[in-house]
Amino acid sequence: MLLMDWLSLSDIPDEGQKLYFEDDSKWLLLWDRFALDCKARKSLITSLEVLPQQDGVYFRGRVQGQIALSCSRCLEPGLVDIDYSIDVYESFTVGPEELPRQRPIKQENGKWWFSPEQLAWEHFVLALPDKPLCTRDCLGLCSGCGENINHGMCVCVEENLDPRLAVLRNLKINRKRG
Ligand SMILES: [Zn+2]
Ligand SMILES: [Zn+2]
Repeated sequence: MLLMDWLSLSDIPDEGQKLYFEDDSKWLLLWDRFALDCKARKSLITSLEVLPQQDGVYFRGRVQGQIALSCSRCLEPGLVDIDYSIDVYESFTVGPEELPRQRPIKQENGKWWFSPEQLAWEHFVLALPDKPLCTRDCLGLCSGCGENINHGMCVCVEENLDPRLAVLRNLKINRKRG
């Protein structure tokens, strides 16, 4: 089903219910809204088990899929596997000491609602790497000319080779001349 903003908790049977969300267009909207340079490779699927309790609700599930993010070294798109488990309990009562935060449940018109979208988004963000890489040993961009060094050595790298090697190179040339 579509990744809904809010669903009524009273539609969930007491014994709980498993829900599956696959909604590529909603993810595009979310990435756009949070200005995340991200593209889908394999559809993100959110499985969510909703387990109503006496004084709150348990959410268990997973966000899985594959996206492409800009490599933090060379800026080329790199693939990132997303696989993050959801395991949260939301209480209907909020302690006075609890800091205000955006919660995935709310009470409105005398009913409780939960947000599959918010649960999926929060866990998707947790799954993101701090520094995405296209490959584990990406060489990145040259700090001198900005060339992608993965595609081969740029001029600066050749010029900055160990000076002792440069001497050897000259020796070879000289020998040829002699
Ligand atoms: Zn890279
Ligand atoms: Zn360079």
